[in-house]
Amino acid sequence: MKKRAIVVGAGIVGLATARKLALKGYAVEVIERSEAAQGASVRNFGMVWPIGQPKGQLYERALKSRVIWKEVAEKANIWHGEVGSLHMAYLPEELAVLEEFAAQNPQYTIKKPEEIESEAVVKKNLKAALWSDEELIVDPREAIAKIPLYLRESFGVKFHWNTAVAEVVHPRVKLANGRTIEADFIVVCSGADFETLYPELFQKANITKCKLQMMRLVSQPNEWTIGPALCGGLTLVHYEAFKQTASHAALQHWYHNNHPEYLRWGLNVMVSQNGSGELTIGDSHEYGNNLSPFNQEFIDQMILDYLATFADFRDWTIASRWHGIYPKMTDGSTEIIMTPEDGVLVINGLGGAGMTMSFGLAEEKLETI
Ligand SMILES: Cc1cc2nc3c(=O)[nH]c(=O)nc-3n(C[C@H](O)[C@H](O)[C@H](O)COP(=O)(O)OP(=O)(O)OC[C@H]3O[C@@H](n4cnc5c(N)ncnc54)[C@H](O)[C@@H]3O)c2cc1C
Repeated sequence: MKKRAIVVGAGIVGLATARKLALKGYAVEVIERSEAAQGASVRNFGMVWPIGQPKGQLYERALKSRVIWKEVAEKANIWHGEVGSLHMAYLPEELAVLEEFAAQNPQYTIKKPEEIESEAVVKKNLKAALWSDEELIVDPREAIAKIPLYLRESFGVKFHWNTAVAEVVHPRVKLANGRTIEADFIVVCSGADFETLYPELFQKANITKCKLQMMRLVSQPNEWTIGPALCGGLTLVHYEAFKQTASHAALQHWYHNNHPEYLRWGLNVMVSQNGSGELTIGDSHEYGNNLSPFNQEFIDQMILDYLATFADFRDWTIASRWHGIYPKMTDGSTEIIMTPEDGVLVINGLGGAGMTMSFGLAEEKLETI
């Protein structure tokens, strides 16, 4: 008889975990409190983003994830754009980071303005851009809805929707509706809910929450496309990968002196396009365990103003605005894996890289269980 596994949470971490456990031969059940996952995994850009990961184990994990994303997307009939990315440099300090980074990482190339094909890129004052063919885009709303169907059909994974888990005491998972389910192995992937399961562990962990404001623009007319995912100099300040360059400090200093408000609100402005031609744009970063439920209009406006410095579109009509919250480690770790008791794992804290890293992380950490 197959061993049984229960995964709590149907966000990307839970789905990647369920896939890996099914591949390991477990009979897997996923328990999700909502009718469909509504957490960080459906609220993000859908960027699978290896270029943002520091070189070494994390970058390799991101590449592994990308391979799995492609396989899952093809099998689950999920739109995915292998569009790559362009990081634009308008300041000498931005150019210095790009050139140093490209010299350290020969898989990326520097493009002159006249070599850039995307019509969305603002060419005025553009010094150069960094081209990478690694980045893959999915529409999270579609992907997170279709992966459960794929896991059910391909591996027989059973999903319990509208079912909150109230307590885990191995081998039992107690549901809020009073029922109990048992399993040999239980993995809790409950995202930003630190309050329901293992609150005492989350209180002791070096983890907090981060709120990000996002927007989506309507489908661009006449199937107009932006090509690669686009970002500007703030992305060079934001991602760990670029912090490995010596020139990063001067760029950080420039933004600190000239636009401290961007750093105060953690602006990292990027845009990706989905298969329907809509543009997903964001974002900001506010940290803490008592985040306001209300969006701040001035933050959206800062994002739009900064975006217009490096990108222009055919139609800037905003179709929707929202925010998402993800758990973020405060000690520099890239995730937290806790073992509250034998047979139970808690996987959390993937921060702003959960879409990029979850499949690779599950592959590494669950291989030997
Ligand atoms: C705005 C935004 C943009 C982002 N952009 C990107 C990006 O482009 N690329 C990238 O790599 N990453 C990105 N991220 C990060 C990524 O989205 C997260 O790291 C990832 O979604 C975390 O997944 P998760 O499964 O841990 O959490 P979630 O998606 O929040 O899932 C947790 C699930 O657990 C369920 N749950 C919780 N408690 C219980 C319970 N007691 N019983 C039953 N169910 C429970 C919840 O209902 C929820 O569905 C972004 C995040 C945000 C917010």
